Amino acid sequence: MEKKPVLERRNLGNTGLNLSCIGFGASPLGNVFGVVSPEDALAAVRRAIALGINFFDTSPYYGATLSETVLGNCLHDLGVPRDEVIVSTKCGRYADGFDFSAERVTRSIDESLCRLRLDYVDILHCHDIEFGSLDQIVNETIPALQKIKAEGKARFIGITGLPLEVFTYVLDRVPMGSVDVILSYCHYGINDSTLLDLIPYLKSIGVGIISASPLAMGLLTENGPPDWHPASPELKSACSAAAVHCKEKGKNVSKIALQYSLMNKDISAVLVGMTCAGQVEDNVGSALVLSNVGIDEEILQEVEAILEPVKNQTWPSGIQRN
Ligand code: NAD
Repeated sequence: MEKKPVLERRNLGNTGLNLSCIGFGASPLGNVFGVVSPEDALAAVRRAIALGINFFDTSPYYGATLSETVLGNCLHDLGVPRDEVIVSTKCGRYADGFDFSAERVTRSIDESLCRLRLDYVDILHCHDIEFGSLDQIVNETIPALQKIKAEGKARFIGITGLPLEVFTYVLDRVPMGSVDVILSYCHYGINDSTLLDLIPYLKSIGVGIISASPLAMGLLTENGPPDWHPASPELKSACSAAAVHCKEKGKNVSKIALQYSLMNKDISAVLVGMTCAGQVEDNVGSALVLSNVGIDEEILQEVEAILEPVKNQTWPSGIQRN
């Protein structure tokens, strides 16, 4: 009998967690990329689970806590057994600003667990640490998160951010094993692959690697990015040209972009934001085609050539430290 293709799972650093290579980025459930109805959200999460996605990422920041509430309701209403999903949320970044104090993050996890309708999360990240004092993250926030871990409210601890140097700053200064994972975004896709430089260091210290935003937060989609997207006009226009080129050739830029990100197996999971069941199907389909047939090298090379002038171009984020 022919075997049904299954979405690949990968181990996350030293955590023992086995993540689906595509993770469900739940920021769209907070209406970050336009309004998503509760019905569409439920259908998307249901389809994700049916197609083998076991990893869901949210934050109290997304939609000013809406994303956590919607995700919690979906997982609850679908009756998903708790040990069959890996849920990550974050702390320190909120709709009204940043607060990485021990007091705030300790309160934050209880609020998140209540919205998510869970007793624990699998991963609790400090969210976008470049906006805080990195010494506070090292000396106050991470120790507070260790206590949360010891209380059983989070199984593993992570840090997230855009500039890659914040990861090394913190990891070089905290006790080994106190940060289990990093979540990087917009640095492992066709237009920007600078995360590559950090991977040997992360592997050498056993820190798990999650990469988010393979579609560069909408830049590598036919519909283009949302108004708030921070990329330069030059980067936006190059990505739009790549999308048009793919469409003219009967291809889809999002498919090739996601496949590119999935090809690096040192990255345990690629988090994609998905607004509906159709996008879940498309994205899981892209992953299955990649593992069964491989990537379309011709279109990849053409897209790489279009994006070459803006390769690795990024944007400032957080407190500028020099
Ligand atoms: P993304 O690159 O995944 O792009 C999301 C956009 O692409 C949405 O508009 C979505 O509707 C669209 N899309 C998804 N699949 C598509 C398809 N097949 N065809 C066309 N369009 C498609 O960016 P993202 O959502 O910002 O990142 C993914 C997730 O990663 C987030 O939801 C969040 O969970 C996480 N993330 C975390 C951080 C952080 O911690 N600092 C930063 C960015 C992202």
